Amino acid sequence: MTNKTYTEDDLIQLSALQHIVFCERQCALIHIEQVWTENVFTAEGRIMHEKADSNKFESRGNVRIDYSVPLRSLRLGLIGKADVVEFHKKDDGTWQPFPVEYKRGKPKIDDCDKVQLCAQAICLEEMLNVEIPEGALFYGQTRRREDVVFNTALRMETEDTARKVHELITSGVTPKAEYSAKCKKCSLLELCLPKVSRKASKYLLNIVEE
Ligand code: SF4
Repeated sequence: MTNKTYTEDDLIQLSALQHIVFCERQCALIHIEQVWTENVFTAEGRIMHEKADSNKFESRGNVRIDYSVPLRSLRLGLIGKADVVEFHKKDDGTWQPFPVEYKRGKPKIDDCDKVQLCAQAICLEEMLNVEIPEGALFYGQTRRREDVVFNTALRMETEDTARKVHELITSGVTPKAEYSAKCKKCSLLELCLPKVSRKASKYLLNIVEE
């Protein structure tokens, strides 16, 4: 665990964690070069987030549900919002926070959604001075809610990812494009042009070799 503390001026959008796990270049294009376009995947995600955004709070029995909750952690250097934070009433009368993040699609093979949710939990722990052992991801395609335990391994991965985002953004350098299967789902495909970049570098290499 890191002992470094960031200042308000250092804070980075929490969503950058998800972007860097997906692709370092995508993270740099969005958070260094401030490039953004919407495709069918991000549009569906945005609509789900807007639904989660539509009320401020509601109560259902022993659960209070807050929507669109502001988040911040000086330890991770992150700022953002949680779609939903449930507060579960405990036997001793106190309330246990339980973050829930809405995602389009279905559970992914990488940990990007879990890392983002864990970062939300770490922000809430710092803000509310409580421990948050678990939260949940809700997937639109499967309409299923998956509980996520914030164990030591996930917390370390989240801290490591936050550190990498800060290093990338501080460097100011956008990594070169590398075409892979995930590019087909990337909202920045038409701006990034990973195939063209690869062809262009091959072309330049051929000229140099000639
Ligand atoms: S198109 Fe591919 S290489 Fe380019 S930003 Fe997206 S995922 Fe990364």
